[in-house]
Amino acid sequence: MARASQITMCSFCGKSRAEVKKLIAGPGVYICDTCVVTCKTLLDKELKQDVQKQVHSLTVPKPAAIKAHLDQFVIGQDEAKRTLAVAVYNHYKRILSNGVGAETPALTESGVELEKSNVLVVGPTGSGKTMLARTLARMLDVPFAIADATSITEAGYVGEDVENIILRLLHNADYDVKRAQVGIVYIDEIDKIARKTENVSITRDVSGEGVQQGLLKILEGTLCSVPPQGGRKHPQQEYIKVDTTNILFICGGAFVGIDRVIQRRLGRRVMGFSAGPESIEAAKVTTQEILHKIEPEDLLTYGFIPEFIGRLPVVTILDELSEDQLVQILTEPKNALVKQFSRLLSLDGANLVLTPDAVRELATQAIRKGTGARALRAMMERLMRDVMFELPGSGDVMGVRINRAVVRGEAKPMLVRKQSAAAA
Ligand code: ADP
Repeated sequence: MARASQITMCSFCGKSRAEVKKLIAGPGVYICDTCVVTCKTLLDKELKQDVQKQVHSLTVPKPAAIKAHLDQFVIGQDEAKRTLAVAVYNHYKRILSNGVGAETPALTESGVELEKSNVLVVGPTGSGKTMLARTLARMLDVPFAIADATSITEAGYVGEDVENIILRLLHNADYDVKRAQVGIVYIDEIDKIARKTENVSITRDVSGEGVQQGLLKILEGTLCSVPPQGGRKHPQQEYIKVDTTNILFICGGAFVGIDRVIQRRLGRRVMGFSAGPESIEAAKVTTQEILHKIEPEDLLTYGFIPEFIGRLPVVTILDELSEDQLVQILTEPKNALVKQFSRLLSLDGANLVLTPDAVRELATQAIRKGTGARALRAMMERLMRDVMFELPGSGDVMGVRINRAVVRGEAKPMLVRKQSAAAA
């Protein structure tokens, strides 16, 4: 044995046992701690390159496949899903036609320049705008970042610089610039940076317009200098250069009141032809239907500068979710909330039953809150809190049943215990 330990050495670097901290034995071979670390570093690098290659050789799923994927997670919003599927397909096809990471606009073989098409999604709170963007990024396995337009300020003012949006994306791409450059950014509350007044000549509301100007650069594609530490730019700081040409920007907002802008435009047209039956017809259409008639000129009236509108050529509408759809959201998608909580409880050995009237009651209450599907998660958390508190220690609970009365706060969840189940 003593002799054996003298001759054992790392099969990779040749160092003897005495020269290394650890020597790991395999059948007929040895490896020292230093070589393990070296191999790990090598492997990490290779695996990372594989991921990069994946992005580089990103085969873009066809629009129908993208839509089918979205269908698994997002209820309703058919038109938006179709529009986004096409936009995303075209976006990445455009990148591929030019080779990923190239810094010039995409040119097809025929020399036609393929311009980037960022997307504007108009829809009420909690209708799935952020979710759609996030689901797309996950599906394509590209980095994703969310920003809030209201937190962005013009250069020189207190607040966030537009560069910080790109920094967030870079951070989520583990500082892999190439990966970040093909990521997706969702900018929420874009409607809040509209000029507050339609009449530019009377009151010039520069704040909104300034932010639009600031965002314009990154939307159209620029070499953005990102301060790695975030925060304000500092002359002594080293910057990371990120090209935003191939980043897909999805901007979203509720655009409260834009239906009136559209209606005014439509109304004028209708009146232009005749004040007869058409205008009566126009009055009958619902807000939802009116929203679907949105045109770039409505965004102009709403307070966006033409250049900004020009950078968001794809516009789509998300509808307000109905009570039935909220019921679906609670139960149907792959990661539906009821499924998630059932799974959580099953890990503690209990089976969760939410009666159909309980699910319906949750949807009714969520509709009353007026925040779409957004309230559902907090409502479920509150509903399940006591059960989730007691269950892990109880040991004998095998089932939890929640009905409408429980959701209304009129009763406690019914717990099915082992003894009572055996007695029954
Ligand atoms: P928005 O960005 O439109 O305000 P979100 O996408 O943030 O809304 O939605 C909030 C939450 O509500 C999501 O995380 C998701 O769980 C749920 N949700 C919203 N809309 C839908 C939908 N159409 N289908 C499934 N779940 C949805």
